Formats: sequence, structure tokens, C-alpha cells
Amino acid sequence: MHRNRNAKIVATLGPASAERATIQALFEAGADVFRLNFSHGTHADHKQRLDTIRAVERDAGRPIGVLLDLQGPKLRLGTFAKGPVVLQQGDSFRLDLNREQAGDQTRAFMPHPEIFAALVVGTDLLVDDGRVRLRVEQCGADFADTRVIAGGAVSDRKGVNVPGVVLPLSALTEKDRADLDYGLTLGIDWIALSFVQRPEDIVEIKTIVKGRAGIVAKLEKPSAISSLEAIVAESDAIMVARGDLGVEMPPEQVPAIQKRIVRACRKAGKPVIVATQMLESMVTAPVPTRAEASDVATAIYDGADAVMLSAESASGKYPVEAVTMMNSIIAQTEADPYYRESIRTAQTTHSPVPSDAIGVAVRGVADLLKVSAVVAYTSSGYSALRMARERPQAPILGMTPRQAVARQLALAWGVYPVLCHEVMDVLEMSDWACQTAKKEGLGQVGETIVISAGVPFGTSGTTNLMRIAQIG
Ligand code: PGA
Ligand code: MN
Repeated sequence: MHRNRNAKIVATLGPASAERATIQALFEAGADVFRLNFSHGTHADHKQRLDTIRAVERDAGRPIGVLLDLQGPKLRLGTFAKGPVVLQQGDSFRLDLNREQAGDQTRAFMPHPEIFAALVVGTDLLVDDGRVRLRVEQCGADFADTRVIAGGAVSDRKGVNVPGVVLPLSALTEKDRADLDYGLTLGIDWIALSFVQRPEDIVEIKTIVKGRAGIVAKLEKPSAISSLEAIVAESDAIMVARGDLGVEMPPEQVPAIQKRIVRACRKAGKPVIVATQMLESMVTAPVPTRAEASDVATAIYDGADAVMLSAESASGKYPVEAVTMMNSIIAQTEADPYYRESIRTAQTTHSPVPSDAIGVAVRGVADLLKVSAVVAYTSSGYSALRMARERPQAPILGMTPRQAVARQLALAWGVYPVLCHEVMDVLEMSDWACQTAKKEGLGQVGETIVISAGVPFGTSGTTNLMRIAQIG
């Protein structure tokens, strides 16, 4: 069941992947974490998908991660009376707070009073991922008169971005709070927060979540990039949300920002997901473009923990093919001799603390003895993430007595999570590690493994022990 690759795959579920057979097939094809996108679908839809994932997990006997993605303060237009309208360059178009009246050729409802308050003459509004650009010429508390700078079709509930403006919005809307409460009662492993603008946004959600799930900060606003390190420090994981990021900022800046974010996360030892449009053309075609294959590979060469599928697996025609393709691209890229060199050049520095010292030691031992597995016995997941940060050559067996931790670790580079019972002493731990490595096909009799753990057991953040063992 070990997948023979280090980087992980996050697959978004949606109408194209709601059936049990499809979710099963996505998992078998390589999906390690499933994303429930709360921008779409009802609570009942998501619950049903979660139940199905847990059934697949039970049958497979392998922990599967579930990521609940909150919509966040995504701005949207209202609906239109007679379907899509096509705006021509030079047209005038009004946005207002008139909820009662459906949109037409001259105006549309935009249900966000805070945004009208933040607009000034000259602000550009980008509709539908920047396909249509509107420039504010006049505005007030409840309207904005705009000129169409780039024309195109606008239709029901299309997204609106206001780049360059720090919006006076919490990253948690009323809908998000309700979705979050619901998700926490269901039990999910990761929560992604959209349109994070500042580290305080993460602090705010953490006070609600209280450790019941890991927090993924979605970086898709210029202001988030300005406080990148502080946001990474507050978060448990990061998503490079290139869809909105590439609208809020010029697309040509996205590649450098992506690399900067991945570097910052690797330095901090936090999982980083590269997301959006990775295999976009597979929404309608059974094969990707060569440029898309290259894009997935680039994320892998950078050392990202995970790559993500959105519409490809949620609403496309070829969800399983998309996961299969992603799986093959990752495997091929990691088999390239240059891959190791590439992720090593981004090797991070160490701090003078016991957990880093153990990390350095484990990596050295693993390379010197050519161990078949690096075992992290971990209660919070921290030890396993520190081992993943070292990007060792051998697979990392993340052994944990906590199911939620095992599921969270499904996102981390190189970590093969296994649920185990609490151990009492080092000998028992060592024994268990050897047996588990053998059972999971990560080592054979006579081979060597290296184990890291924190003693006393069960206290997190105490990685202070390394042990070399031979599988008997
Ligand atoms: P979304 O986030 O799909 O929820 O918008 C990802 C992105 O913006 O890239
Ligand atoms: Mn987004």
C-alpha cells in the first residue's frame, strides 16, 4: 500500500466524484487527502462524501486526510434576470446593493457593503478570475459606477477580486463560522482558511478550532505575501492558492511567489500544497498539456509536500485519469536523479535545539546506513514533520496512537502514517517499529531502520531520542 512516491496528492470532491466507486478509484489511483470545498454544495453533500471517505478508509486500512476548505470572504455578484450579459469595453456598468433587482446589461447586485465602503475612484474590480475588468469612476456607500476596461461575459454569482486593497474583512464570514462548526462536529483533519490577509486571521480561527484540526492558510492575497513568514509561523500548513493569487497579482509574479512560499514552508517544516489549474485541461480532456505536466513537476522539484486537483477531480470529465496522471508525473519526477539534487539545494538550516539535532542525526544515519525506513514515533505529528523537513532518502514511517494525527500526516512529504497503540518504553517502541516496517512492506528481515521519538512518550514537542534497530 506504500505509494512509492514522497509528494502527496490532494483531490477535491464534487459532483463528478461523489459516488462511492469514484472516491474509491481516486484513492486507489493515488489521492492521499480529499478536499471538501465549502464554496459549493450543501452540508448534506459534504457529510455524505465524508462518510464515503471514511468507509473507503476503513476498507483500505489506511489513514486518509480530509481537508475542509472554507469559502472565506470571496466576493461575488448576484444573479442576472436573463442569463449572462456581455459587457463591451467602454460600457458603463453599475454595481449596487439593490438585492431586490436581478442584474441586467447596465447593473448587477454585489452583496458586500464593506466593499463599497473600501472602494475609491480608480480602483479596479476583476470579475470571473480577471476575465472582465471594471474601473470605478464614481462610488458611494451603496453603489459603484464603473467603466468596462476589458469586456466579456458576466453571469450569476461570478467572483469579484479587488486587488491592491486591504479589505476590512475578517477571513471568517458568517457562512464560514457555520460551516466550521458543522465540520468540527463531523470531525475533519484540516481546515483551510481562504483569503488570509494577516497572521491575526489565523490566530482568530485557532481560538475557535482549539486544536481539533490543523489549520491551512490559503495564500491568495498580496497582503498575505507581505507577511508570509508570520503567517507560516501561525499556521499548521500552507496552500499556494494560485487561482485567486494570479488574479490579485499579475500572473507573471506567481512562479516566483510560489517558490518563495515553498521555501518558507520548508524552512519552517510546515506542509505546503501547490494548488489550482495544475492539470486544468483535464477537466475536458483525458490527457494534460505538456506545460501542465511540467507545472506539476516544478512543484515536485521545489520540494512541495503536496499538489492539488480542483475542478479536475470535482467537476471534470476525467477525475480518476487526473489523479492517475498526477501520480505518474510525481513518480517520474522523483525518479529523476536530478530530483534529489534539486530538493537538496533547498536544504534548510538547523537551529540549536534537540529536535533539530535529532533531525540532523537521523538524516546522517539514514544516508550512511542506507536504512530502509526512518520511523518517527509521534503523538502530535511534530516528530514526523521534523523528519519530513529533512527530506530523507528512505520513506518516513509516522507511527502515532492518535487517529487524527495519522490522518493529518497523510498530507506530509514522504510520511507513511500508521496508527499504533501507546508504547511504554523504548524497547517496545523499537520492536513495534520493526514489526510495522516489515508488515507495511517498508523493510525486510535483516535490514536496518532508524527511529526518532520523544521521551517521555505522549508529550509532544520533545523529540530527543534516536535509535538504530535491525528488523528481526
Ligand atoms: P479556491 O482556492 O479554489 O477555493 O478559490 C484556490 C485558489 O484560489 O487557487
Ligand atoms: Mn481561492
